Amino acid sequence: METFLEEVNRRIDGVPIQRCYHCRKCTAGCPLTSEMDYNINKIIKMIQLGMRDEVLNSSTIWLCVSCETCITRCPNQVDIARMMDVLRQMAIESGVTPKEKNILKFHEAFLSNIKIGGRINEPLMMVQYKLKSGDLFSDMAMGMSMLMRGKLAPFSPRTKDMKSVRRMFEKTK
Ligand code: SF4
Ligand code: SF4
Repeated sequence: METFLEEVNRRIDGVPIQRCYHCRKCTAGCPLTSEMDYNINKIIKMIQLGMRDEVLNSSTIWLCVSCETCITRCPNQVDIARMMDVLRQMAIESGVTPKEKNILKFHEAFLSNIKIGGRINEPLMMVQYKLKSGDLFSDMAMGMSMLMRGKLAPFSPRTKDMKSVRRMFEKTK
C-alpha cells in the first residue's frame, strides 16, 4: 500500500520530497512562518515520517498563500507551494475540517471569482466571501478605506482567453 510520502510525491509529480536536506532556507523566507502551527521544514519532516493526520489537520497547509518564496530559496527546487496545494486537496478528500475558520470559504470565493472573469475582482470576491462565510460586517471599514484610496478597483477587465480558463476548470472536475 502507498505510504503518505509516496502519495504526496506522486501527486506533486515533480521533485520528490526526499531531496530536502532540511537547511530551512524555505522556512526562514516564508512570510507566514510565525502564524503556522508547524513551520514548513517541520511539515516536510512529518510527511517523511508518515504523520498523515497531524499534517492534514495542521493550520500550516491552509495558511500558505502560494507566494513561492520557498521554492525560490530552496537549493533543491522542492516545490512547497505545490506540496501545500496537494495537502489541502488531500485534507478535503479525507473530510478534514480546516483548522482555520472560514479559510475554505475564502479559497472557494477566490476560485469562483477566477471562474467568472479569469482574474480576481477584489470587491466582487469580498462580496462572495462574505456571503459564503456569513461574516458580513467585519473589515467593512478597512474595505471602504481601501476603496476610497484607490487600493481596490471596483471593476477589472475579464481575461480575453476565457476558453482556456473554462478548459482549466473542466480538467479539474
Ligand atoms: S529550502 Fe529546500 S532543502 Fe532546505 S529545508 Fe526547505 S525544502 Fe528542504
Ligand atoms: S508558498 Fe506558502 S509555504 Fe512557501 S513561502 Fe509562500 S506562504 Fe510560505
